[in-house]
Amino acid sequence: MQNSNVYREIYYSCVEGIFIVKGGVIIKANPQFGELFGYEANEIIGLKVEELVPSNLRGNHVHLREEYTRAPVSKQMGVGRDLLALRKDGSTFPIEISLNPANIDGEDVVIAQVIDITVRKKVELDLKNSEEQLIRYAAELERRVEERTKELADVVTDLKKTNIHLEAEIRERVKAEEEAKKALHKEKELNEMKSRFVSMASHEFRTPLSTILSSAALIAKYATTDTQDKRDKHISRIKSNVSELTSILNEFLSLEKIDAGKMRIELIAVEINALLSGLISDLSTVTKVNQTIDWVETGGECILKTDPQMLRQVVTNLVSNAIKYSEEDSIIRVALTQDDTTVCITVTDQGMGIPLNDQKHLFEKFFRAHNSHHIQGTGLGLNIVRKYVDLLEGEIAFESVEGEGAKFEVILKKN
Ligand code: ADP
Repeated sequence: MQNSNVYREIYYSCVEGIFIVKGGVIIKANPQFGELFGYEANEIIGLKVEELVPSNLRGNHVHLREEYTRAPVSKQMGVGRDLLALRKDGSTFPIEISLNPANIDGEDVVIAQVIDITVRKKVELDLKNSEEQLIRYAAELERRVEERTKELADVVTDLKKTNIHLEAEIRERVKAEEEAKKALHKEKELNEMKSRFVSMASHEFRTPLSTILSSAALIAKYATTDTQDKRDKHISRIKSNVSELTSILNEFLSLEKIDAGKMRIELIAVEINALLSGLISDLSTVTKVNQTIDWVETGGECILKTDPQMLRQVVTNLVSNAIKYSEEDSIIRVALTQDDTTVCITVTDQGMGIPLNDQKHLFEKFFRAHNSHHIQGTGLGLNIVRKYVDLLEGEIAFESVEGEGAKFEVILKKN
């Protein structure tokens, strides 16, 4: 390949505009140069380079060119600043230009290459704009995040406040609910008690009252002296029924007194063995046919500081129940045992016992076990017993198998 051909190809086919300047005047240019600046090929030769510079920059350009002519070197023009070129039609465009001093055929010239960097500048500008826009977006985003974070913090604070408020409200509601439940429970208990009382009263009052009424009517009929024994029989029936009613009323009154806290406890040293044996001999007179009360004392004499009236009432109630709820020909056993700290009185019978399902209610007011409804009773005795035992700071327990009997146990502390 010949060198001249290579140079020709470079000159004609490269994208840069190439032009040769001598003394500030263009003496040669390739076609691309003409296209760049909008000149016809025949218009270019003889153009002053300043004619390709926007008029406001021309003065300075002349000065720069003269400086370059004094010390020409190969260099990129306008490093660090934007260069603008002027087209024939008066429009301007950004360029990059490189200058190379040369000597052609003994003449000092400058070979210059120029390229249009409009597209690059636009891309750069777009990039810069996008970058600025991105920065603005980022700042805006940051501001919004901050704003939202603050809003969120406010919401959280509000929620916390609401939560505290709600928690307090829930606590109050739960408390109110519990109180309502308690009240309802009490109401139910009261209703239950009322109906038990009504059934007890209608049963326990009606029988003795009708007996009294019929006996009184019969007495009126037995007017002659030969019927005195019949009158006496009815008078004693009236007496015993009145005393039954009186004892029911007395039970009510004692309960009322205990519940009102009016029961005074009077502690004295009591010989328990003597108290129990006396009581048993009294109660032996009211047993059923062939019923016996066995009195078992182990551990010798026992003296206890207690309220003898209350203790007597407790044991009387338990032994009376044992008599009432067991058959004729049965044995009731009252035992006294003791150790260093406690005294234990047990009353055991061989009677009807207490159904398992009823056992948990046994000490409740007016409660009567289901197997005992045919026998007279108020359902108050055991309630009174438990309250007395509580007052004496003792304990009461029982065990029973329905149909086999029952065993009640009262434990009192020695101190
Ligand atoms: P009452 O004997 O007047 O009905 P209590 O309060 O003394 O009342 O007794 C409550 C219930 O306990 C009785 O109705 C009875 O069902 C049951 N009960 C008490 N003692 C005995 C016992 N020794 N054997 C069987 N049941 C008993």
